[in-house]
Amino acid sequence: MPRVHALCGGYIDLDRSGFFCDVAPGTRVTVPVICFLIAHPRGHVLLDTGVHRQALTDPLARLGERRAGLFRLRSQPNDEIVNQLALLGLGPGDIRYVVNSHFHFDHCGGNEFFPHSRFLVQRPEMEAARQALAGAPIRYSPSPIDFDHPLDYQLVDGEHDVFGDGEVVLLPTYGHTPGHQSVLVRRGKGDDLVLTADACYTRENMDRDVLPTVLWDPAEMSRSLATLREWRDRKGATVVYGHDPGQWQGLNRAPAPLA
Ligand SMILES: [Zn+2]
Repeated sequence: MPRVHALCGGYIDLDRSGFFCDVAPGTRVTVPVICFLIAHPRGHVLLDTGVHRQALTDPLARLGERRAGLFRLRSQPNDEIVNQLALLGLGPGDIRYVVNSHFHFDHCGGNEFFPHSRFLVQRPEMEAARQALAGAPIRYSPSPIDFDHPLDYQLVDGEHDVFGDGEVVLLPTYGHTPGHQSVLVRRGKGDDLVLTADACYTRENMDRDVLPTVLWDPAEMSRSLATLREWRDRKGATVVYGHDPGQWQGLNRAPAPLA
């Protein structure tokens, strides 16, 4: 049975209007960047690698002018992936699979620290990221400084059962970005956990059915959000949202297991 730990990949201060397309600009909010360690008997899976530690000390160099203007880092030095894994007595070499939900800077910042892991990424995410890297004019800003490293990227197409036993399943939740994915962890009868990542920033996005301002495809993101809501409301899964400060307050964090 997989055990799950919530890890802090940083804190970001941003305008609340970025999270809700129907909210006027002018209110700042600090949100957590959440990563997860999923301990399966056949290997450790890491969902996302958070914000790179350099973004704290030199935001301009790491994030570039545009993003450094939009986002302020509010992390403590320990709020980054390698230090968080150490809380569990683990190092990068212990991670068999890294799952990138998508290639925004707050989800793949620490990728370079996992040269021996296999990365699982949805094919449309990688294809769009490579197009953006080649200068194609697409409405998607992945973070090359974070993902563009000689890592063992394995591309998956849609739903993907990581160990073949149904316990850790990647769910395609496209729309926020071209190939965004979430993760389903089945911990036993009736104990399903859905880690949405940025297919749903907060509980409020799901409850009010409101999308964020920046996204790839609103119709597709809406469908993905509906699928996740069905997991929560009809199938009884526990849902952990991508950047929900209220939910994060009440979550058990590493080294404790997520309840
Ligand atoms: Zn994010």
